[in-house]
Amino acid sequence: MDKLSVLKEYFGHRAFRSGQEELIDHILGGCDVLGIMPTGAGKSLCYQVPALMLRGVTIVISPLISLMKDQVSALTAAGVSAACINSSLTQEEYAETMYRACRGEYKLIYIAPERLGTREISSLVSSVEISMVTIDEAHCVSQWGQDFRPSYIHIAGFVESLPCRPIVSAFTATATDTVREDIVRLLGLREPFTLVTGFDRPNLYFAVKKPQNKYNELRRLIGDMEDKCGIVYCLSRKSVEEVCEKLCSDGFSATRYHAGLSDSERRANQEDFIYDRKRIMVATNAFGMGIDKSDVSFVIHYNMPKNIESYYQEAGRAGRDGSPAKCILLYGPSDVRTNDFMIERSRDENTELSDEEKEIMLERDKERLKEMTFYSTATSCLREFMLRYFGEKAPSYCGNCSCCIDGFEEADITVDAQKIVSCVFRVKQKGRYFGKGMIVDILRGSENERLLSLGFDRLSTYGIMSDTPARRIRAELDHLAAEGYLGFSDGEYPVVELTALSAKLLKERIPVTMKLPIEKTEKKKKKDSGLTQNETLFAKLRQLRSRLAQEARVPAYIVFTDAALEDMCRVLPTTAEEFLTVSGVGRRKAEKYGEDFCALISEHLRSENDHRGGTL
Ligand code: ADP
Ligand code: MG
Repeated sequence: MDKLSVLKEYFGHRAFRSGQEELIDHILGGCDVLGIMPTGAGKSLCYQVPALMLRGVTIVISPLISLMKDQVSALTAAGVSAACINSSLTQEEYAETMYRACRGEYKLIYIAPERLGTREISSLVSSVEISMVTIDEAHCVSQWGQDFRPSYIHIAGFVESLPCRPIVSAFTATATDTVREDIVRLLGLREPFTLVTGFDRPNLYFAVKKPQNKYNELRRLIGDMEDKCGIVYCLSRKSVEEVCEKLCSDGFSATRYHAGLSDSERRANQEDFIYDRKRIMVATNAFGMGIDKSDVSFVIHYNMPKNIESYYQEAGRAGRDGSPAKCILLYGPSDVRTNDFMIERSRDENTELSDEEKEIMLERDKERLKEMTFYSTATSCLREFMLRYFGEKAPSYCGNCSCCIDGFEEADITVDAQKIVSCVFRVKQKGRYFGKGMIVDILRGSENERLLSLGFDRLSTYGIMSDTPARRIRAELDHLAAEGYLGFSDGEYPVVELTALSAKLLKERIPVTMKLPIEKTEKKKKKDSGLTQNETLFAKLRQLRSRLAQEARVPAYIVFTDAALEDMCRVLPTTAEEFLTVSGVGRRKAEKYGEDFCALISEHLRSENDHRGGTL
């Protein structure tokens, strides 16, 4: 089977996402690879597809038990034979799994790094052919990463000890240069093909709010999300407790997670959230790595986190299935102090580093905190800010963040344009050209000496924009230049020049508009009137999914992701064949669920028809 057939047959997707195909091709060509892609980009498929095509077994090393369990249930549901070996298994399960593993019954075996040195694993690798070793969350090998795990250090030795060196593939979402070098060196990758995909997640909406009362704002936001599920991150255990308690007493279905709870409560609460028994998870940053729940619709930060890396990773847990999702940060100035305090404390508590290393870490952490604060108080596009932070270029207007949506509006600047261009004309009539600053000063009626000595206070355009902020005039002037109504000369001190279009603008009074930041005004809330047809069907599909998930005792998104249900609303399949064309539906799932879903959709279409017939 070729890779596209594998993708369709087992995972139900029509096409590879950006980067996936290249990584897969290199693996199949026998190359080590390092894939650096943001959370939700689809790293798992990059090793799962080749694992199914390679001859032997693929061993996947992953840091967290929850992560392994989740991946194995998803694979099993898709008809792939996979298993995990970790401390969560009972003795019988363990023996059974090892027995079947040694007989080569699994294509993918997930192993916790602590297990690698054990005798059982040694006997396993001598009885089956290991084609590939995959390291997920590979940044855990680096001390400079955010989740250093000492047991990752032993992976390289394990790979070396194998009778035949397998392909090694490593994946992470953290991309700083130091971490990247550590991964290659410490995992012993051999001339890996390295692929870094763009960090943008277009389906995520980013917002920063500075509410007077954070809790009231949180309650309002969650109230607006209807029955969607999401995560609320707090900085301290104490605020997790408080926020969770308030939400529960306000009637929301919420649970909590932090390092102060017992293992069993943490596990139970996490499962409540994953299995949709609880809609909201209130947690510290201890919650999340390895939570691959793909239908998280919002991530709200009740406090500003300590750096942009953490923020982007935590916020990125929203919308992994590609559906629109919201990432909202509730910022308060005291967040800076709390973070400062926590950074100092973690330096004092660190026993692994030398004093010198600690000072370097501290300085770097404070620098990162500063950047995070800049983000929280930014007035220009938030997405651009973050992407620039990760070293990517991005347009200055994304249209899907709070700064772009609330902060900008399409403004008619025709009159201002006339004034600005006339001013440049007047100055030119005096035989002079000047830079932007002088033009702005004249328009605003400044009394600076140079301006007065040149007699520009006698120009007819002097002071005609005295009540417009200088910043705004500058932005308008730049816009006029971008549209070709004015120009700038080259050189160190660019002067404003007229162009062929300048006179036309004045004579024909050409209308000019541009996106301009607006002063904060309370936006009128759009209130949806009733559900659209698609939403009704979507709700029905969700109900069915939830019933099937309960019967199978798996989380709902293991049955189908929201993205798959949305595609069903678009495709409206009523036959098995049509059902297979839905994105996210592979052969196994089509066989298992096709009939139920097609029946529901047919029924829905019939009732819609009757309804329409009846009202005509
Ligand atoms: P990562 O590990 O990079 O954070 P995952 O591997 O967990 O991301 O994938 C996130 C989501 O993207 C999953 O719901 C998965 O089904 C979906 N996905 C991955 N690849 C594709 C694809 N080619 N087409 C459609 N959906 C995909
Ligand atoms: Mg992953």
